[in-house]
Amino acid sequence: MKYISTRGGMSPLPFSDVLLEGLAPDGGLAVPERLPQISADMLEAWRGLPYAELAFRVLLLFVKDIPAEDLRKMTYAAYNSEVFGSEDIVPLRPLDDELSLLGLSEGPTLAFKDIAMQFLGQVFEYVLAQRGARLNVLGATSGDTGSAAEYALRGKRGVQVFMLSPQGRMSSFQRAQMYSLQDANIHNIAVRGVFDDCQDIVKTLAGDLAFKAAYNLGAVNSINWARIAAQVVYYFHGWLRATKAPGEQVSFAVPSGNFGNILAGHIARSMGLPVRRLVLATNENNVLEEFFRTGIYRPRAAAQTYATSSPSMDISRASNFERFIFDLVNRDPARVRELWAALARDGQFDLSGELPNFSARYGFVAGTSSHADRLATIRATYERSGILIDPHTADGVKVARAFVEPGIPMLVLETALPAKFSDTIEEALGKPAPLPPGMEDLAQRPQRVETMECDAQLVRDYIARHAGDAA
Ligand SMILES: *Cc1c(COP(=O)(O)O)cnc(C)c1O
Repeated sequence: MKYISTRGGMSPLPFSDVLLEGLAPDGGLAVPERLPQISADMLEAWRGLPYAELAFRVLLLFVKDIPAEDLRKMTYAAYNSEVFGSEDIVPLRPLDDELSLLGLSEGPTLAFKDIAMQFLGQVFEYVLAQRGARLNVLGATSGDTGSAAEYALRGKRGVQVFMLSPQGRMSSFQRAQMYSLQDANIHNIAVRGVFDDCQDIVKTLAGDLAFKAAYNLGAVNSINWARIAAQVVYYFHGWLRATKAPGEQVSFAVPSGNFGNILAGHIARSMGLPVRRLVLATNENNVLEEFFRTGIYRPRAAAQTYATSSPSMDISRASNFERFIFDLVNRDPARVRELWAALARDGQFDLSGELPNFSARYGFVAGTSSHADRLATIRATYERSGILIDPHTADGVKVARAFVEPGIPMLVLETALPAKFSDTIEEALGKPAPLPPGMEDLAQRPQRVETMECDAQLVRDYIARHAGDAA
């Protein structure tokens, strides 16, 4: 199993090499040369496996350059009750007679990104040790990604993390979660600016090739292939928990932003998992819903991206989308290059000729949700079932309802816990979300953060001073 670029300009590389890269050298994204196929017998043999073992079996199909026993150690170190609070790792709970919740947010930062990041932390440390290399991870976050990366990489040998966040723009919970980490290899930098300013600084420094090479800068952003591979696992897990017999179909509803989560569902389905529908839910930032409705992909400018109450889905362009388009055009890299050239030239591309395939061939359907929908859904869910859901999950629940079919379980992916977005819970219910056990004192813990003016040079100097710190 080797990896190629969606734009055709990269000679095939093994897993460990694409792990440490961001974009492919030709500007495309790494994808498997061909997808492994799962038979019904294999699936049946996986019933009842603990999550860590299932993760090992699935990831082994994608990772051929690491000895199997080492890979198994990593999945068991990533997915256990110490990290995820219980043996379930990803619990499946019925919400009502139509929907169930697939609980992806039991990890240390209460959002689904923990699942992929915990594996990434293990495999980064392993590969760096093998190569005697060090890595300086530089990132920008508006909340969930940065904290998940920090909790996964804290104390890892050979890795320093430099995470930029916009000063005063995250929720107090998110701030407390990140800034209370005291590990020597975690560096929180609060920039006097907005998220886009932080992102610009990252782009400036990562674009300075001499600096990037001298300090071995790396990224853990949503295009990282290892994150996608780790996310494929929970679609298998959800299917295995929701079905009893071979061939039974399940639908998944996915609150979406950068198209990383639902792309993993598309991959699982393409591997032969009996998935009926992949229901893509967006908030008011409906670039992806528009695509699945019209066939036209039209990313928005930052200024046209709304700040909503499901902020982790506030995206203007979906960074993983190219991987799906690659499949949609029958894995023709020349077509992908053409489409992305059109995007650069015209600000959009048109695949409306493929519209019938979206659902019939790939199972994709889509819908949107608004602030009022989120509030109403949080309230109705709580009143009906006593279960409190977060605003992102509420977008998923709202959109899922429209696509429920008799006899086919609909699993809504719970992408965060409500405590993380308590302001909106309070707006919906008149009371805040309870803090999970062990986190009651989070706001009181001492915080460690460096505040800086919005200036790439200051960040560059800071990295130069701290890149060698022992982890
Ligand atoms: C990141 C995130 C999303 C969006 O996931 P994508 O993989 O970017 O589509 C949805 N909900 C929450 C809570 C998130 O943190």
